[in-house]
Amino acid sequence: MATLTFYGAAETVTGSKYLVEADGHRVLIDCGLFQGVKSLRKRNWQPPGFKASSVDKVVLTHAHLDHVGYLPRLIKLGYRRPIYCTPATRALARLILLDSAMNQERDAEYANRKRFSKHKPALPLYTRHDAEQAIRLMRAVKRNQWLQASGPIWVRLHDAGHLLGSNMIEMEIRTQDPPIRLLFSGDVGRYNAPLYHDPTRPPACDYLICESTYGNRNHAKADLLEELADVMQRTTARGGVALVASFAVGRAQQLIYLLQLLIHSGRIPRIPVFLDSPMSVNATHIYYDHREDHDLAEGQLSGRRSVLKGPNVHLASSVEQSKRLNKIDGPAVIISSSGMMTGGRILHHLRRRLPEARNTILLGGFMAYGTRGRALQEGAPTLRIHGRDVPVKAQIESVSGLSGHAGREELLRWLAPLPAPRQTFLTHGEPDSAQALAETLTAEQGWAVSIPAWGESFELSGATS
Ligand SMILES: [Zn+2]
Repeated sequence: MATLTFYGAAETVTGSKYLVEADGHRVLIDCGLFQGVKSLRKRNWQPPGFKASSVDKVVLTHAHLDHVGYLPRLIKLGYRRPIYCTPATRALARLILLDSAMNQERDAEYANRKRFSKHKPALPLYTRHDAEQAIRLMRAVKRNQWLQASGPIWVRLHDAGHLLGSNMIEMEIRTQDPPIRLLFSGDVGRYNAPLYHDPTRPPACDYLICESTYGNRNHAKADLLEELADVMQRTTARGGVALVASFAVGRAQQLIYLLQLLIHSGRIPRIPVFLDSPMSVNATHIYYDHREDHDLAEGQLSGRRSVLKGPNVHLASSVEQSKRLNKIDGPAVIISSSGMMTGGRILHHLRRRLPEARNTILLGGFMAYGTRGRALQEGAPTLRIHGRDVPVKAQIESVSGLSGHAGREELLRWLAPLPAPRQTFLTHGEPDSAQALAETLTAEQGWAVSIPAWGESFELSGATS
């Protein structure tokens, strides 16, 4: 008997964890952190719903925190076996996990120092030591080759075009002939996106586990460079600082490159650009090392290392350098993380820049429910940061073209060639979004679609031979 259980990314966009069990073997697909509202974040502290030491292997779709960020906790709970992923995912996950562990330690330390936590003392969810142990267990595997994950459970990775090293995971449970076939979409990338390949055409499957982040929305058709030019022109005219919350990996590199294009073509003045994230600098080198994963002709990073080191581009690695940015007067750009403003250096910049009307806070991607990014998008008059309510006077702008997720039309385009699966599970989407996509797939394709709840299990059966 084979089962599939949804331990995360069920009716929400974070915490991806899907457990497949067959003949006593257990394979976990992704091991993500819950992010967003407190009720979700609390789940990171609860037992995950399965025994960590009973899992035989973990296979990762990609390195984003909502797909790998729970790994160090899993190790703390007793997991000691290999974690399979592509080489680029391993390299990026190393940065992301160490950064996450550092943020956990720093936030706990800050809460203790300022005494605003109810918990005495406030503890980190995991430490750098736990993250290092997780990194040591990561084994790089090649795409497009079948790999025996555990017992009858085999996996094969295909480029998802969402982030360097990102994959969809095809799975066969070979307990019968023909085997039971599953396809985990991971996060589906976009067509013709700078840097990345288009998502691979999905292989046929009995069970499809598909993300639905943008199941009810399309991305604006506006040209990304035009959108960015418009926002930057208005901000520089006011003499303000544009504060950009960006995932340090992938989007930050794209942003600097696009800003430099605007400056070089004379569309915006030669303003200083501060990259306040040591992780971003390291990530750029990983991009150079894994050229097989991205389209350099489109990304135009090849031969342009100087783009990240131009006279107007400043890298802030140390905490002191980061603090000094508080004294910067506009016009200028500060790019910092985390992307949804849930933690990290961006919080200090928000406290400094939010109360002034001449500044711009630029939101560059999906903002999950309950995050500060989402609150700003929805027009919150104040933002709670480090136990204080900070007034929102700055201009709040969104640039939709920077999202790494397929929009609704792109998701449907990706799904179009797929023969109807026996069952489709929509995950990694908030309820409205998953529901909208489910209705379309049911009404237009006649597919059997369900939206699993957190912890819900399904029995799997293959085609009869
Ligand atoms: Zn992702």
